[in-house]
Formats: sequence, structure tokens, C-alpha cells
Amino acid sequence: MSLSLHGVSASKGVAVGRLTIVQQGQVRIAEYSIDAGAVDAEVQRFEQAVGAARAGLQQIEEQIPPSLRTDVASFVNVHLMMLDDPSISKVPVTLIRERRCNAEWALKLQRDSITAVFDAIDDPYLRTRKDDVDQVVNRIQWVLAEDDSAHPSASDVEGRVVFADDLSPADAVLMHHQNVAAILTGYGGATSHTAILARGLKIPAVVGLNQARAFLRENDEVIVDGRRGVIIIGPSASERDYYRARLGDIAAYKSARKRLLDAPVLTKDGERIVLQANVELSTDLETAQSDGADGIGLYRTESLFMNRADPPDEEEQFEAYAQALSAMRGMPVTIRTMDVGADKQVDGMRPGAPASLNPALGLRAVRLCLREPALFRPQLLAILRASALGPVRLMIPMISTPQELGQVKALLVDCQRELKERGVPFDRLLPVGAMIEVPAAAVCADLFARELDFLSIGTNDLIQYTIAVDRVDDEVNYLYDSLHPAVLRLIRMTIQAGDRAGIPVSMCGEMAGDTRVTRLLLGMGLRDFSVHPNALLEIKQIISESHIPELRRLAKRVLRAGRLSTREGLLEQINRDHFV
Ligand code: PEP
Ligand code: MG
Repeated sequence: MSLSLHGVSASKGVAVGRLTIVQQGQVRIAEYSIDAGAVDAEVQRFEQAVGAARAGLQQIEEQIPPSLRTDVASFVNVHLMMLDDPSISKVPVTLIRERRCNAEWALKLQRDSITAVFDAIDDPYLRTRKDDVDQVVNRIQWVLAEDDSAHPSASDVEGRVVFADDLSPADAVLMHHQNVAAILTGYGGATSHTAILARGLKIPAVVGLNQARAFLRENDEVIVDGRRGVIIIGPSASERDYYRARLGDIAAYKSARKRLLDAPVLTKDGERIVLQANVELSTDLETAQSDGADGIGLYRTESLFMNRADPPDEEEQFEAYAQALSAMRGMPVTIRTMDVGADKQVDGMRPGAPASLNPALGLRAVRLCLREPALFRPQLLAILRASALGPVRLMIPMISTPQELGQVKALLVDCQRELKERGVPFDRLLPVGAMIEVPAAAVCADLFARELDFLSIGTNDLIQYTIAVDRVDDEVNYLYDSLHPAVLRLIRMTIQAGDRAGIPVSMCGEMAGDTRVTRLLLGMGLRDFSVHPNALLEIKQIISESHIPELRRLAKRVLRAGRLSTREGLLEQINRDHFV
């Protein structure tokens, strides 16, 4: 008889395959003292192990597809940086020399002291870094122990469903290259690094299956239903047939998508929807253009400021914006002024400034820009100059009070005056909009709408601030819920405020590219989406199969529903005939 087990959906998709169980617990660490004469050899053994771990990670880094979002791909890079940090690569050498302990023991002692520091700081973001330290240290320990069991061979992975208690982002990338069918993990939530990567790499994944572990045996046949977060062990013939048919339907559905490439984005009832792209990398620009985006709805300029000692000057920024305009060939480009701070740290920014206890509530985005006009002015000048080349829109992130808007506008007028004096052209009617991503701004969206040319809902932050859930804290990610009634109501209020003021309202947070909620958002009145370029065609397909008058009634019911199960049931109804 088959057995169905429920975990947490991390990445949609269906897989049918045999199970490979990866034993990835802590390696058994032998602790012993070494003779004085053996110290040099032991140090060499340790350094070689660090070198081998680094080489392994570098190899994996090279296999990351260029289309993957930088923040997703950077998880592997973080592990490489940790491996090179002296606290991991050098301090154990001192311990081997001074205490004469073997390499494994020295590394374990150092790991314990690093994680004790993390525990004492009690910062939720750093707690996730503690898992990273564990994963990096384990990598070296496995090399020292010559233990390959944590790294299954390609033949153990290809076409198979892999279960592990925990998987590092690097493991997920490697398994993607080994053509894994699906990933299951005992621990981790839907927003863990590995889950985010699995979604980016399009590997079906179910996490949080710790209770299920006791029922899993090597080589069992399993069906993984990533969307529902369900696995079926030892499926019956009818279950197998059902899912094989689903796999066929999904493939046919995907291939139908290609036909939409050159068609305008229209709903079944003929309404034109604006579908734009979020851009962070130059490869995003290519996909936005090749997959027919109606423009760029969010250009994240902070990526220009990252991984360098000094900020880019006006000229360098102007060139980057001009490049985006030319790639989009006359389509609008919405340039968001830099959103630096909190989870988006930039080297060397405000050296010596005291660290904030709540960086997400601190000096970030427009707050930081207004505090540092020497940093902000060159960006405004560059955006204004770019506006002479094509349809640019300027967007302000994290606005929370109308005063901030007044300050930005005053600075903009000042920059326009400077450009006039310099004889440099710019668009005098440059549209200025703001992101609605702080609950205060959503509640007062009518006040902002009066002063602006457009609004764009940033759901990533709006959800974080509305539910008081740090978006990068794994400990509370179970509360991060885009369907929370408060979030849905704030979105609805913002759309209505825009409609009343007669200005467009877009959505550029991850929710805009979440295929589960596309129809709900259409039913709630959203007509303008900006999504990761990889999601353009899929969202377009869903829109083209949606009939708005039918969705309005169901969307109203979702907004009124208190219980999660009622909301999810209604969502199933809204999505009944497409494969999300
Ligand atoms: C958002 O908050 O939804 C958003 C798009 O901005 P970011 O993710 O860059 O903070
Ligand atoms: Mg944001």
C-alpha cells in the first residue's frame, strides 16, 4: 500500500523516481594529540583539505547558470568567502601547532568557538550564517575523513529523488547538474537558501520532512508533488498513472507557452495587461528583451554599487542606464534609486557608522539617500540625463512619509537646475513614482497617489513589515505569508488609491511573479505586473487564460476569508484549470 507524507512545498513540479538517501549528519570526528614531529605534516593535511574543499566549491560555482538571480547565486559565493576567512582557514593551524591536536579536532574547536559567538549575538540573520559556517566546516571535515557518503556520485543522483537531512546551496547546484529529479530535505523552510535555489533551478522540492524520514528506504519508488508539498512512497498503479499523465500535461502546457512569445498580453476577455521585467543583471536585460517584456518595471540600481570599494560616479551610472534603455528599444525603463541597507549591504558605505539593531527599520533606501546627498545627487543627475534618451521613469524605494517625497522632489528640482546650467538635456516631464512597501505608505496610498505619477507595490518588504517577519530570518519564515488578509487588504487599498487618482499601479515584488496568485491579483484589480524575466512567459500564459469578470467575485471572497484553509481552497478554485 502506498504512503502519502506531507512536508512543506519549496519548489513546484512533479517527479517520479527512485530514492537516494544521502547520509549527511555531522562527520564522526576523531580527537587525538600528535607528536611534535608530526605537526608540520598535520598542518599540511589541514591545508590540503581546505584547498580541496575550495576547489570543489569553485567547480560548483562555475556550474551556476548565468540566468540565476545574483542573490540566489551568491549563496555559494558566501561559502567560498567563509572558507577563505582566516577564522576557518588559519586559526585551526595555530591550534594544531600550539595545542598539538589533530586537524579534525582543531577545526571542531574553532567551529565551536565561532558558533558560540553567533549564539551570543542572537541576531536572527546571523543565525542563518551559523548554518553556513556548519556547512563550510563540514565540507572540510568530509575531505579530512575521506568520507564521500555526503556527496553521492552522479549515478546516484541522475533521474533520482534525493533525500538529505539538510542540503547546502552548493549541493543543490551540483545535483541540478547531475540531473536530479527532485530534492527532499528533513529540515529547512520554504524560504531557506536551498529552497530558493531549487525554485530558481526549477527542481521540484519538498522540505520539512523530518518526521517522514523513518518511513524512507533507499531505492523506494516515490512520487514528489512539489506544489502540494506531498510525497507518495510506493505509489499504486493508479497514482503512478495519474502523475505520469500530469507530467505529460505539464510538458504540453509548457510547449504551448512558446507560441505566446510575440503576442500582446491579453486576458481571455480582451483586457490588455502590462507585463514588465525586474532587472538586476545584464543577462536579465537580455531575457527581458527576448521574452517580450513591455519594459522594465524595476531596475535595481544597488547592484551597480555592490562588490566595489567606491560608488560609481554620475558618468558610470548614466552609461549603465543608457545601456538598459537601448536594450529595451523604446520600452519604458523604471529606474529605482538605490535601495542600500538591511539585507542589501554595500562595502565601505558609511564607514564608522554605528550598526543598527534593526537594520530593516533603519537607515536604508531613500532614508540613506536623503542622509547622504553626495551619494544621491550623482544618481539623480544620471537618471535625469538618461531620460533624454528614452522613456525613463524614476522610482523611489521605501517611502514612508510624504515629507520624504517632498525632499526627493526638491533635490530633483535642484539637479534639473544644475543640468540646465550645464546645458545637458533631460526629460522635463520625467514620471516620478514610488514603491509602496511600507504599511504606512499603503494605508496612505491616496495621499502619495496625489503627488506621484505611478505606484509600484513591493511585496517582499510589504509582507515583511506588515506581519513583522524578517524576510531573511529562517526561524520565522513560516509566518511569511503573501496571502495574509492584512497583506491582501493593503494591496487592494493601494490599487484602489491608484485607480481613484487615475495613475497606474504596478507590482514588482516576488508575489507578482508567483504563478499561484496571478489570477487572484487580476481579480483584485492589478493590471500591471513586473516579474523576474524567467517568469515572463509563464505569467503571460496564465493571464491569457484568465477571464477577469469571473475572478473578481472569487477574489472578493479570498479577501474576506479569515481561515488559511478557506483562502487556499478558494485559490485552488481560482487556479483549477492551470498548472501552477
Ligand atoms: C520588494 O520589496 O518587493 C522589492 C521589489 O524590493 P526589494 O526586494 O529589492 O527590496
Ligand atoms: Mg523592497
